Amino acid sequence: MSPILIISLIGIALILFVFRLFKKEVKPFPSKWERLLKSNVHYYRELNKKDQLRFQSRMMIFLSEVKIEGIELEVEDLDKVLIAASAIIPVFGFEEWHYNNLDYVLLYPEYFGADYEYIKDKSKTRIAGMVGTGDMANRMILSRHALRLGFSNRKDRYNTAIHEFVHLIDMLDGEVDGIPKIIMEHQYTIPWLDLIHHKIEDIYEGKSDIRPYGATNQAEFLSVVSEYFFERPKMLRSKHPQLYKVLAKAFQQNLAK
Ligand SMILES: [Zn+2]
Repeated sequence: MSPILIISLIGIALILFVFRLFKKEVKPFPSKWERLLKSNVHYYRELNKKDQLRFQSRMMIFLSEVKIEGIELEVEDLDKVLIAASAIIPVFGFEEWHYNNLDYVLLYPEYFGADYEYIKDKSKTRIAGMVGTGDMANRMILSRHALRLGFSNRKDRYNTAIHEFVHLIDMLDGEVDGIPKIIMEHQYTIPWLDLIHHKIEDIYEGKSDIRPYGATNQAEFLSVVSEYFFERPKMLRSKHPQLYKVLAKAFQQNLAK
């Protein structure tokens, strides 16, 4: 065997070894999670069997790419299931999705304040979830309390974790501006902005059933109406048909059918 061939073979073996070392392992879906999904995630219950299986495998790919860490708490199976489901729900319309801007989800027991201190007092400003920038880039912080509350009532159009994942989708184009360019075609962005401003005006005038927090800015508007879209699609279609149409197209999911 020539020395060149030997060196090439060693090189190939080394590349394969390093690749195996860094390749993230996708674990099989634990069968006991099926019950957790069925009893807690309405979106999953509505899927047909084939899509439920697809949903499960998408969850496991997500969990192989993003680490969930408990801060002063032990992460339970239900936490993993709800976080992975929240990640997949907004992107289930796409064949494949990787949250390249997320490495960690840090799970806090409670709501927290600007310095990440826990806040139980309801009269104070409390943060239920956030996606980091700067030092906190590629990290999402979630309150377990808010995560579970988001799935306990599917009619309130309130789901903190889905809200945060939609912020990540919005951020993927480099700007947190409520225009998710990665999933929204260019020709729709101007009409989308007009619609946002019109709907925010309605919130200010007290003429809207969209949560007032959505009027904070364009990015919050997108996340708030996405919670509405994924929790009450039929209601959104009947009360805000234009909004429904744009979101259904962007997320490639016609949930109100
Ligand atoms: Zn937000």
